[in-house]
Amino acid sequence: MPTVQDQIVRATCGAGNLRAIAVTSTRLVERSRRRHGTYPVATAALGRALTATLLLGQALIKPPDRITLRLLGDGPLGAVVADADALGKVRGYLQQPKVALPLKDSGKLDVGRAVGRNGRIAVSRTAQDGRSYASTVALVSGEIGEDVASYLWRSEQVPSAVTLGVLLRRSGSVQAAGGLLLQMLPGGERYASGLEERVQGLGAISLRIAEGLGAGELLAEILGDMEDFQSSVVGTPRLSCTCSRARARQALLLLGPQGLQEIAADGGAELVCHFCEKVYRYTVDELQDGPKADDLPSP
Ligand code: ZN
Repeated sequence: MPTVQDQIVRATCGAGNLRAIAVTSTRLVERSRRRHGTYPVATAALGRALTATLLLGQALIKPPDRITLRLLGDGPLGAVVADADALGKVRGYLQQPKVALPLKDSGKLDVGRAVGRNGRIAVSRTAQDGRSYASTVALVSGEIGEDVASYLWRSEQVPSAVTLGVLLRRSGSVQAAGGLLLQMLPGGERYASGLEERVQGLGAISLRIAEGLGAGELLAEILGDMEDFQSSVVGTPRLSCTCSRARARQALLLLGPQGLQEIAADGGAELVCHFCEKVYRYTVDELQDGPKADDLPSP
């Protein structure tokens, strides 16, 4: 079975009162696994977080704003962070990529224990001018899908069903990944019953993607029989980082005079981007005050 292509598809139905978004993310989650060298339970957690952030990017923001999801649980992965724009560019990392835990009795990876069941989920939206709005609720299970649904209800007051899945091969590589968000918008109350059942009826989303279902087909399967069902392709989600040499230099300058003196004593500095693992190296000269030629955006 060839791998389903990564795609974001949106759909509405029920006189526009129900909104659904599906993301297939197998390739980008596999790229993230290779980039960060994650062990299986960390691959699953970061893959779910990346996929969830793509879903939130469709549900909560418009271009050019960005959205950031932080899962701050008490599990061994530490913080799990992902951010995305509304066009499908996403990046993410977790503090401890090399975590191994026993499987659950069901044979599934124990993402809830790896993230931790106690802690917070924080979502922030950042406008192009840098203004940011953040909102935080308690984690429910650490499984990420439930936590995001709880966030959407408690913070945004939008009843939502969220399902996320990452299926790994025996080797640890990603066989299938994706997610789905179904939301009842104001006025859609008469459609409320049965929404959760429709999502449940799909079965494990990663297995369905592994069977060859694309994002549009997933949406058609759960909502295709509803009145006014319409779907449209948003585009291809991609791993993409916004870091740059100039931004990394700005971060180093924030260390202040004493920090810069220590850098001078070391003969220079090195900064690694958490999101993409890119390494930026600076000589002492390059960290002297004043803009540098390479701070300017490239044409
Ligand atoms: Zn980066």
